[in-house]
Amino acid sequence: MVKSLLEEVMTVSLRRGILYPSAEIYGGLAGFYDFGPIGTRIRNHLVNLWRTRFVENRDFVYEVSGNTLLPSPVFKASGHLNHFTDPSAECSKGHVTRVDTLIEERLKIPAEGKTDKELEAIIQEHKLRCPVCGDPLKEVKSFGLMFGTNVGGERRQAFLRPETAQNIFLGFKRVQTAMRAKLPFGVAQIGRSYRNEISPRQGIVRVREFGQMEIEYFINPDQLNDCPLFEDLAQVSLNFVTREAQEKAMKKSSTDYASIQLTVHEAIKKKVVPNQWMACILGDEVEFFKHLGIPEKAIRFRHMRPEETPHYSGGNFDLEIHLSFGWKEVIGNAYRRDHDLQSHMKGSQKDLSLDIEGKKVVPHVIEPSFGIDRLIYAILEHTYRPKDDTRGWTWFQIPNTLAPYHAVILPLLNRPELEEKASTLFSVCKQQGLAVIYDASGRIGRRYARADEIGIPKAVTIDPQSLEDETATIRDRDTGNQTRHLISQIPIILKP
Ligand code: ATP
Repeated sequence: MVKSLLEEVMTVSLRRGILYPSAEIYGGLAGFYDFGPIGTRIRNHLVNLWRTRFVENRDFVYEVSGNTLLPSPVFKASGHLNHFTDPSAECSKGHVTRVDTLIEERLKIPAEGKTDKELEAIIQEHKLRCPVCGDPLKEVKSFGLMFGTNVGGERRQAFLRPETAQNIFLGFKRVQTAMRAKLPFGVAQIGRSYRNEISPRQGIVRVREFGQMEIEYFINPDQLNDCPLFEDLAQVSLNFVTREAQEKAMKKSSTDYASIQLTVHEAIKKKVVPNQWMACILGDEVEFFKHLGIPEKAIRFRHMRPEETPHYSGGNFDLEIHLSFGWKEVIGNAYRRDHDLQSHMKGSQKDLSLDIEGKKVVPHVIEPSFGIDRLIYAILEHTYRPKDDTRGWTWFQIPNTLAPYHAVILPLLNRPELEEKASTLFSVCKQQGLAVIYDASGRIGRRYARADEIGIPKAVTIDPQSLEDETATIRDRDTGNQTRHLISQIPIILKP
């Protein structure tokens, strides 16, 4: 049977230590994956790139690192305990299925935001059945996504956070005071979030524990059109799917939405986005994506329809990436107005407003929320290269900045002089801060294949000529071309 691209990417990922099911030797647990040694390196590089661009290079963004388990009043105030649900239906054998995604995938019609009754009617009309066993589905019910537990001797109810954002709102006043931060400023967090997804699947695209990189930008509501990033980002080109384009397609029961290309500046002028800040945040993401190996045409911003967004939203724009199984949200961008701070002011009875020139101001919030695991899958899928006539193995064309290692060092033959030279070069590269591995076992072709399969951009080979003239070859992963260089120059050449 022909494998889907998802299956191919997951197969290589399992074989090469990119990722594997958690607790695999006990049969695993659906929706949980561990990153292996190679996957962890790629993940760390992605996180570092993000931190450098969005935190380190900005003097108005502060990073925090909060706990994942929080007391229940937090989620009562945030609304998660009552409203963080997905529509589900059970079959007679007890399999529970998320039905909005089932409808979207099977019928190719939008289903997010529809009521349980509307979804049930669609299921009945189209005779949709349980995807596991084919039995009919019963009534549609809301399924809570929060993971709960009890803490300590007093067994206080607590929940694992479903997004990293809540810690940021809870600590807002502390951060602002400690850093003497003035609006606008951002608080960033990289960490894990948990959702008891009804139907986890598609590898790491929908899992129950996942990484997020989020920023809450706190902005004076009078200054939403005064973003410090505007000058740098005004000309960045964005691919938009407007609400009108979605309505037009939906009239034909289609999800094949047309998109338009606008610069950040034009999107503001044409009021496609609610404010300058939102436009700049989207432009910032496009610039970031230039380093990830995902083609620009596979990225779009979809303006979420009113039925998909909460009542307090001032505009949500999902960054979607085209994958082999359709467009998928990878970043949620939400203009949340002052909803979160107001909710926690009400819930905690603490004043979270700021005094600005004698006036109490509750900042507005715009939130870009990146999913780490989905983004890694998207990178893997877009950089995956199948076997072909020129190369008899699968490989990943991962950008150098994300690749697990800068280079692999290889002695061509199993001879002590070659191995000694290769291991000296290996040590020198390491001392110079390069991430290198050493591979001396097997035929050279096999070793190139192993390196390509985990996306290592360069392979350095020490061969008999190296003993004569102090040179070695560098093989380029993408072209397969080999060039010869002085060994002393190699660490400099390998620096990304
Ligand atoms: P979806 O509709 O696909 O469930 P969402 O709208 O609930 O996603 P957000 O709450 O906006 O997602 O979360 C922000 C980001 O976190 C998403 O864009 C995605 O990258 C990531 N994310 C959310 N849920 C999951 C999950 N179950 N598994 C992996 N990543 C996730």
